Parts: sequence; C-alpha cells; structure tokens
Amino acid sequence: MREEAEIVKELRELEKTGTFTNTYNYKYKNSANESLEENIQLENNCSFDESFKFKKFNGELYKKLVENSLEGILILDLKGKILFVNPAVMNIFGFNTNQDIIGKNFLNLIHPDYHNQLIKDQKLLFIGKERILNTYKGISTSGEKIWIEGLGCKINFLNENALAIFIRDITHRQKTWYELVKLVDKYKALADMSTDGIIIIDNLGRITYSNTSFEKLCGKNKEQLNGTPFRNFLSKDSIYQYQEIFIGARKTGKKIKDIELEFLNISNEIIPIELSLSPLKNINNEFSGIACTIHDITVHKKIETELKKSRKLKTEFMNIAAHELKSPITPIKGYLDLIISDNKANTNTKKWGKISLRNTERLLDLINDILDVSRLDSDTMSFTMEKTNPMIFLNEAIEDIEPLFKKKKLELIKKIPNNLPNILADKYRLEQVIKNIVGNAVKFTDKGKISIKVKEIDKKFQIIIEDTGIGISNHELDKIFTKFYQAYTGNDRKCEGTGLGLFISKEIIKRHNGKIWAESKIEIGSKFFIEIPII
Ligand code: ADP
Repeated sequence: MREEAEIVKELRELEKTGTFTNTYNYKYKNSANESLEENIQLENNCSFDESFKFKKFNGELYKKLVENSLEGILILDLKGKILFVNPAVMNIFGFNTNQDIIGKNFLNLIHPDYHNQLIKDQKLLFIGKERILNTYKGISTSGEKIWIEGLGCKINFLNENALAIFIRDITHRQKTWYELVKLVDKYKALADMSTDGIIIIDNLGRITYSNTSFEKLCGKNKEQLNGTPFRNFLSKDSIYQYQEIFIGARKTGKKIKDIELEFLNISNEIIPIELSLSPLKNINNEFSGIACTIHDITVHKKIETELKKSRKLKTEFMNIAAHELKSPITPIKGYLDLIISDNKANTNTKKWGKISLRNTERLLDLINDILDVSRLDSDTMSFTMEKTNPMIFLNEAIEDIEPLFKKKKLELIKKIPNNLPNILADKYRLEQVIKNIVGNAVKFTDKGKISIKVKEIDKKFQIIIEDTGIGISNHELDKIFTKFYQAYTGNDRKCEGTGLGLFISKEIIKRHNGKIWAESKIEIGSKFFIEIPII
C-alpha cells in the first residue's frame, strides 16, 4: 500500500509536467471530472491464486499454456527487472536462452524514446490500472527496431508484488500501416496535382473528399464542401441524369466514363463538365461510395463549336465551288462530243478533241466526287431506299464497266446467282460503289482476271470483288477508306484517281447498315468485301 501511495504521488507530478503523451494520458486527461483517486483502483484483483476462474488447472497445464503462447509473457518486479519470460519473448527479441534476458531491466529491450512511456505505464499497472494497451518501439538483440504492443496487470509472484506483461510483435503490421499511410499520402498528392476535379462521395452522394482543382472549380473550401451532396452543384437539367448514373453505378459496381453534365459554379454559371465514376467497396464488398473525376470541358466545347462552324463553311464552299465548276464543263463536254463526231473535222482535231474529252470527263468525275463528299459531310446526300434485287444493280454496273476489261484484256468471272433475296437499298448509289470497286480492280490489274462473286451468309448478302493486281500493303488496308488516301503503287506508276472513291463507297455502305473491307497481298491481288443485311 505504501508503494502504491508513492506511485500515485509520482503520477500526479508527471501529470503536472505533462511529459507523457501516450494514449492513456490522453484518455485520462479527458476524464477531467473524475478525480485521480476515483480513477485508480487500489485493490489488487489480478493474483493467479484468487482471480483465475480455472483454479482447478494444475501447474503443469499453466506451464504449457505459457510456454506455447504466441504472445510474449514477462514478469517484472517493481523496478522493471525481468523475473520470468516465456519462449515467445525470446523469439520476439532474438534471445537464445532465457539466461540472457532474466535479470535485465525491461527498459533495456525498449528504445530510449519510449522509456518514459513505459515507466509511466508500469507505474499505472502497479497502482491497479489494468490492461493498458500501448505501442512501444523495441530493439532486438541484432539491433533491429521492432514494434511491440503490450498490456499487463499486477500480480503476486513468489509472494511479492510484480507485473505480468503480455506483448505481441506488430512490426509487420506497423510496416504495412506505414506503407498504407505513405500510399494514401502519395495518392492525395497526385489528386491535388491533378487539373481535373476529384471527389469522393459516400453512399448517399455526399462529398467526403475533394481535391484542390474541385475546390477551385466550385469556389468553396474543403470544410464547406464536406458533407454537401454533389447534386447541389449540378444544373436542374443534369440532376436527373446524374441520379440515374449514380444509381446505375451503385447497382452494377461498374465504372462509368465521360458523361457530359452541366456544373454550376459559385456564381451560378453553367460549366460543361465530363463526369467519370468509379464505385468503391468496403471490406465486406458492399458499396461504400464513388470516386469521381470532373473534367472542365469549356475550352473543348468552344473548339468543338468553332470546328463545327468551320466544317460547315468548308462544306458549303466545296459545294458552291463544285457546282460552279460543273456548270461550264457540261457545255464544254457537249461541244467536244460534237467536234469528235463532226465529219468535217480533220484527224488531228478529232484526236485532240478525244484527249480533251477524256480529261474533261476526269475533271467531271473529280467534281462529282467532291460534291458527294460534301453531301456526305453535311449529311445531305439523299438516299432513295427501296426493295431491290441485287442482281439488277450488279448487272447494270458490270455492263457499264465491261469495255474497260476488253481494253486491258482482262478476264471477267461473274458468279451471281439468279435467286438472290431482296435488300433495302438505293440501287443507284450501290451501282456507284460497285463501279468504283470494280473500276479500281481494273485500274490496278495489268494481267489476269477479276471475279465478282455474290453469296448469302447469316441473313447478309455478300459481294466479293477479287483481282490479280498489284495488291495493297497490310498497313495501308484501313487507310485506303479514308478521304484522299492513295496507297503506294510503285514509283513507275502514275497516280490515277482522286483517293475519294473508297471513302464515298464506305459511307454509302454504312448508310445501308452494311460493311466494307479489304484483304490483299502485294503482287498477288486484292479482295474487296461488301456486306449488306437482307430484309
Ligand atoms: P482512287 O482510286 O481514285 O485513287 P479510291 O478511294 O477508290 O481512290 O482508292 C484509294 C486507293 O486505294 C487507290 O489510290 C489505290 O492506291 C488503292 N486501291 C484501291 N483499290 C485497289 C485495288 N483493287 N488494287 C490495288 N490498290 C487499290
């Protein structure tokens, strides 16, 4: 009792000087209305003989329990001298025999930074404050820092007052915790550097975290934002859409990307944003909130509008220019026809007339292609869709191109069945596509054959146009369907055509809900596929 009274006194002193900042100290200070005496139980209620419920256990059993415990167990005298340790303690600190540890002061195993805390905790235990759980930095025999967590109680050991201390090695846990804290700091730093707004909302849609960019975007600070529902920052038109997305993300747990919404800043101005959501789960795999990124797309929207305007202007210009160019060409072509068929014209005049007519026709083709491109770009190309039998436009297109085959002495193989099913199509536009592809096949084939096959696959009608021409390299196969692209056809070949035909063909087939693609091998030949759904 005398010892305890002294310790109480010491504790009072310590509290006055405020040296200790451990968990217990904090708790103790907070219970200001309780007097120290009330707070401290002076009776010893932890002796082995009296307090253990399982009194009937014999000494051998206790010994086994203590020796095989994963927790380290130490018995200390009043001054902290080690009287007993179990194998787990030796294991934690790296001692080989208990002789190396018995008789030492427990403080020797603890890092000096934690001595004050340990001394205080031991004193508290002596005056009956049990189960003080604290974390201490220890030092192993090899000098390594280890983290231990310990609690204890006052006991009677060999008729003397003593302390039983139970310790656990938590180095691994501390390291993991430290790594986790570092990781959180790293992500927070990254989030704060991001030019996009980043927020975390809880399962009710309230903001629980916001980065600097988001605070800037809405003109509020963290404290003002915390707990505010994100929907409060959206325009009326966007709230409903956002709620739908929120519910969807919660239900499916799937990420949702780049949803365009209207954000309201502090001055109630509308800012166009792109919102992406990534649902979060708690340890029980239950929905716990959503991480959101908010991308301000004001500039992007402005550029998009400007681009649309300039595209419209370009299309209008192309349209007007093409029409203006076309008007004088029609009479030129007419007069050239007259010159060629005029009996009075001499051979040279007729020859020059033919050359001029050929070039005028090429010019007309180019103008027609430009007109088609501008119609497609402005979505003004009209399609007269009707029930059509593919045989009709296929045969008509081939009939028109047949003279080209004869001119280049190429063999034409046609495999078009008579009983083809109908498709919904603009037959003139499809004829234009066939003429372009077969025309290309003739243009890029110097010898061999060109075959046109038609088959039906899975409710689709497929046309395959195959040639034995110069072929197209693999890396150019997709590019040939883009505007003005002409594949490399060898140095000695002159560039014929405009590079617009396949672009126009692809767009026309797209508007028939179909597909067009090509396969090819250099010097072996090309295969063009067109697929259109059957009605
Ligand atoms: P154009 O034939 O007027 O140049 P296209 O858009 O019809 O324009 O074709 C684009 C390019 O694709 C052609 O310039 C050519 O390089 C390549 N190409 C198209 N068809 C074939 C083919 N059958 N064989 C080899 N190359 C081809």
